[in-house]
Amino acid sequence: MRLSTLGKVSPTTEPPIRVRPEILAVPPYRQGAVPTRPGFKLSSNENPFPPLPAVEAALIAETGVHRYAGAAMPELRSAIGARFGLDEADAQESVHLAPGSVAILYQLIQAVAGPGDRFVHAWPSFEGYPFLGLASGAECVKVPLAKGARHDLDAMADACTEDTRAVILCSPNNPTGPAIGRAEFDRFMARVPADTLVILDEAYREFVTDAEAVCGEDVLALHPNLVVLRTFSKAFGLAGLRIGYAVGDRRVLAAARTTAIPLAVTAQAEAAARATLTEDSLTVLGTQLEALTERRDALAAALREQGYDVPDAQGNFVWIPLGDESGEHSAGSLAAAFAAEGTLVRPFPGHGVRISIGEADSIAEVLRITGAHAARGMRGEA
Ligand SMILES: *Cc1c(COP(=O)(O)O)cnc(C)c1O
Repeated sequence: MRLSTLGKVSPTTEPPIRVRPEILAVPPYRQGAVPTRPGFKLSSNENPFPPLPAVEAALIAETGVHRYAGAAMPELRSAIGARFGLDEADAQESVHLAPGSVAILYQLIQAVAGPGDRFVHAWPSFEGYPFLGLASGAECVKVPLAKGARHDLDAMADACTEDTRAVILCSPNNPTGPAIGRAEFDRFMARVPADTLVILDEAYREFVTDAEAVCGEDVLALHPNLVVLRTFSKAFGLAGLRIGYAVGDRRVLAAARTTAIPLAVTAQAEAAARATLTEDSLTVLGTQLEALTERRDALAAALREQGYDVPDAQGNFVWIPLGDESGEHSAGSLAAAFAAEGTLVRPFPGHGVRISIGEADSIAEVLRITGAHAARGMRGEA
């Protein structure tokens, strides 16, 4: 083929090489709506505050980019381990770092579930979960959420068959908001076979204000089959640097490491993550968290006033359930109303719309748009 023809290959035609049919069956990734004018980006649950000065300083100081980063990263592992009550030596093997906690989800599923095996997760939940088995050939089982947009842990335990190798629990659940309670978590763990991996994905744990919610630190030591996932992407404000971690049994995490792409965590990401864990940084992050959870609770309450059935919100986002596939009560229609005003939110067609908690003045803008949309719906206009 002449080089000049390369650009003309249509992306919809079959690839020139043989690709696994299960990969071809996945619809191509489509970019979300592009805002037509400047507005708020409330579509990816990022921290709206600018990077901490300590993070910027750490990034500027980390100039040795001609070298690979050392994979051990002992200081960061110790700092994370200390937060989970692990001693120095334990932390080195019981804390696993990766370029984002999503990478660890892939590693773990690939390590435990092959062709014919299954992994179970709630639905709607994190959009990435259904694709985690593509590389290994494992199949996902989606268990519908229960009343209040909460995990149906009884149904999830029922779904654990002989072929089930892993269960993913998302607490608080992205995109709907409720956290899993400690008591229901304990009942669930008692029912799941001890040789089945349970992944507790706590990407939004820092935002939880419900005292009854399960907390990885409290339950990790009780269950060798449990791995707790956390990330620096959300509350810690490092989404663009890609760094997340898992804490759990060293033998389970060794299996994840075996399937990992080596040397994928950069020295910049490590330095920035360490800079967020100093006492000074944690104090600043604490005030940010307070502001964000206050905004969240105020937004959820105001949306309920407007007539939306917003479930308990424990992350840095709120959920508006909209079950219609199309029409004015659909997720697409509300997301389009936002996009027309320049603000990006995340529609889940047939389920609802997720709105991230952003800048202080984003709250009034959200309520202005949802209020107008609700009023239009009540008057029956298109
Ligand atoms: C954002 C998110 C993650 C973390 O993503 P990173 O890869 O660490 O940026 C993991 N799980 C859920 C449910 C999330 O929403």
